[in-house]
Amino acid sequence: MALRTIESLGELSGKTVIVRCDLNVPMEDGRITDDGRIRASLPTLDRLRSAGARVAVISHLGRPGGAPDETFSLAAVADRLGELLGDHIRFAADTVGESAQKTVAGLRDGQIAVLENLRFNPGETAKDDAVRAAFAAELARLGESFVSDGFGVVHRKQASVYELAEALPSAAGLLIDTELDVLDKLTANPSRPYTVVLGGSKVSDKLGVIGHLLPRVDTLLIGGGMMFTFLAALGHRVGSSLLEKDQIETVTGYLEDAKRMGVEIIVPTDAVVASHFGADAEHVVASSDALESTPWGESGLGLDIGPATAERFAAAIRDSSTVFWNGPMGVFELRPFAAGTRAVAEALTEVNGLSVVGGGDSAAAVRALGFDDGQFGHISTGGGASLEFLEGKHLPGLEVLGWQA
Ligand code: ADP
Ligand code: MG
Repeated sequence: MALRTIESLGELSGKTVIVRCDLNVPMEDGRITDDGRIRASLPTLDRLRSAGARVAVISHLGRPGGAPDETFSLAAVADRLGELLGDHIRFAADTVGESAQKTVAGLRDGQIAVLENLRFNPGETAKDDAVRAAFAAELARLGESFVSDGFGVVHRKQASVYELAEALPSAAGLLIDTELDVLDKLTANPSRPYTVVLGGSKVSDKLGVIGHLLPRVDTLLIGGGMMFTFLAALGHRVGSSLLEKDQIETVTGYLEDAKRMGVEIIVPTDAVVASHFGADAEHVVASSDALESTPWGESGLGLDIGPATAERFAAAIRDSSTVFWNGPMGVFELRPFAAGTRAVAEALTEVNGLSVVGGGDSAAAVRALGFDDGQFGHISTGGGASLEFLEGKHLPGLEVLGWQA
C-alpha cells in the first residue's frame, strides 16, 4: 500500500497543518554549518503555504534530553528557514505551551511558524507508549491535520513521528516521497555490482545493519569508527581508537557469513593514527596490523582510513553500478583526517550508475569538502532511516502513513 499524500487531506486553505520536519542540522557555536536538511524541507512547506494553510513546523535538534536547553534551540533554524523562504517565520519559545498556542493561533493563511525543539519535552522520546500518546495529544490540539516529512526520523517510534500521525488526519510530505523513490531503486532491483560503504561514529547502531545487508550487496566497505571493531575481530590491536568490544564476536560472525555468501567485506589495511583528538594532533599512517607501533603506542587514536585503503575503496566504488554510502570514513571535520572521506566522495561522483549519500554528517561532509549535491545521484537526509529501509525493516513512521513494504 502506498503512502497517503497531502492531497488526501483535502482542502487546506485556512486550515492549521502541523508539519514534522527533520531540521536537525549540524551547528557550531550557534551557527548552522550545513543547511541541507532545511533546504530539503522547503518543497512541502512551499506547497502548504501556496495552498493557503497555516503551517506549524515541529522538529527536534540534537539530544537535549527532555528539558529546555538554549544550546539546542531551533531559533537560528527558524531564521534560516525564513531566509530561504523569503518570508518572516514566527518562532514559538515552547512546543505545546502558551507561546506555541498563541503563535499558532495568530497565524494567517499561508503563514509559517516554527515551534521550539520537540525534545525539550520528555514525552517526545518516552519509552512508555501512554506518555508519548499524551504528548502527541497536546501537539494534536494545535492543528487540524498532520504532514510527516522528517524522513531522518521515520525509523523512530516517537510522539511527533508516530502517535501524532495517529491522532490527526495525516499524510506524507514531498521529501519523504522523494527519499522513498530513490531507496526503492536501491532495494527493488539494484543494478550490480552493488556496493555499500559504511563509516561514521554511531558504531553500535550501524553494526547491526550489516547482517541484513550481506544478502543484498556484492561488496561492503568498512571505514569510520566501526573499522576498529573489524580490525579487532581480525586479531589486531587498535590502541585507543573507537572500539565496541562486546561486538567483536558479532563482527567475526559477519566476516564468516560474508565469506560463505561470496560477499566481499573490505576492511582497511591502513589508518591515520593521531597523538590525540584535535586538528593540531601529530599523526602518522600505520598499517592495520601495527596500529600500536606509532610513537603514541596504546594511546594512539585511529581517526581516518589510510591512503592505501582510500585508493582501494575508491576503485571498488568506481567499478560499481549502485553505491550507497553512510558515515564519514574519518573525522572529516578536522583537516588532517578528511582525506579518506574526500576520496570516497570523489569516487562516488564518478560512479556510472546510481550513487546515494545518506546521513546527516555524511551529507554535511560532502558539502563541507566542496562537492555539489548535483554530483551525486541523491543525497538523503536520513542515515539511520535509509539504512533501516535498505535492511527491509518495518519503519513505524512510514507504516503509520499507510506504507507497506
Ligand atoms: P551520519 O550522520 O552520516 O549517519 P554518524 O553520525 O554515524 O554519520 O558519524 C559521523 C561522525 O563520525 C563524524 O562526526 C566523524 O567525525 C565521526 N568519525 C568518523 N570516523 C571516526 C573515527 N575513526 N573516530 C571517531 N569518530 C569518527
Ligand atoms: Mg550523525
